[in-house]
Amino acid sequence: MSAVRVAIAGSSGSVGTQTLDVVRAANALEGIGRYEVVALGVHSSVDVLVQQALEFRPKVVAVADPSKRAAVAAALPFVTVVADFADLVEPADVVVNAVVGFAGLDVTVRTLAAGKRLALANKESLIAGAPVVQPLRHTPGAELVPVDSEHCAVHQCLRSSAFADREVSRIVLTASGGPFRGRTAESLADVTVDQALAHPTWSMGPKITIDSSTLMNKGLEVIEAHELFGTPYDHIEVVVHPQSVVHSMAEFTDGSTIAQLSMPDMRLPIGYALAYPARIGTPFGRIDWSSLGRLDFEAPDTVTFRCLGLAYQAGRTGSTAPAWLSAANEVAVDAFLQGRLRWAQIADVCDAALQRYEPGADSTVADIVAADARARVVAQEELPG
Ligand code: MG
Repeated sequence: MSAVRVAIAGSSGSVGTQTLDVVRAANALEGIGRYEVVALGVHSSVDVLVQQALEFRPKVVAVADPSKRAAVAAALPFVTVVADFADLVEPADVVVNAVVGFAGLDVTVRTLAAGKRLALANKESLIAGAPVVQPLRHTPGAELVPVDSEHCAVHQCLRSSAFADREVSRIVLTASGGPFRGRTAESLADVTVDQALAHPTWSMGPKITIDSSTLMNKGLEVIEAHELFGTPYDHIEVVVHPQSVVHSMAEFTDGSTIAQLSMPDMRLPIGYALAYPARIGTPFGRIDWSSLGRLDFEAPDTVTFRCLGLAYQAGRTGSTAPAWLSAANEVAVDAFLQGRLRWAQIADVCDAALQRYEPGADSTVADIVAADARARVVAQEELPG
């Protein structure tokens, strides 16, 4: 069996480094050569990139920051150094898109257009880019496998039905509730960046961790589930499950619910996306049932955590509305991380920007980029002076 050639766009981040963990573990268990890392890309974390390249010996590395490119070329004389993440696609069988935010759209589009498997951790590109990404999923050979714990769970649950397109009655996405679960809006008025970054169950990058604290992440995941699985919004629900052990569920027309469980460990969904339809031989997130204790479930507090409802609203509007909301959210989260916005105002900015949504063309990548850019301008205008 020849090696599966893997490219990682965004290799220095949380999903990127954990993908390399999975490759290391799978190769150690199954013999060197199960996975070959052929391409790596970072924005500007070149020290991490150089270490990774010295270990994995890729053919190509991409460095988005032009000021860092020459140093990388000098440190890695055996590697082709490029500027564009799209150049990571060509040598690979599987492209892991772990870019943060809307900037990941290009990798998503290029991978599917090339007829390759996309292991998608960059949910924003599917959410915002759906009008142009969905047709590309029909490219011969193209395959989209989610690297998001909830959607990986649903993907697994749907395999229990031979007729999932007509036998799914409901998808239930679980949410940890983030660090502020159970808090009232009043008590959240003055929370700090550090408090919002202290996720109770998952260790992730700052953007998605803030999104988890506002439930925007879960809202975006509702849109992601709709786009991935074609499930109508009325049939996608969110339930808060603080232990993050049940990663999501599918309910079928006969009343059966199938759930996928593991301890929270992103290496499981990463390994699933690399190996699908097989499974890797290295366990991540195995459950010790004797110490697991209890699993709790409760309805989300949509009054305090308004971003969840905003995402449903944008999703139901469709077209470029999800791109619009996602872009506004990126602006708001950036402003919060920079201390220019209070936590509670993230939802205010997203809400105000969404109310100013301007429908437009959505048939090309340029249309999506234009909607994203316009939403950023609108969101900037909604930031407090
Ligand atoms: Mg998730």
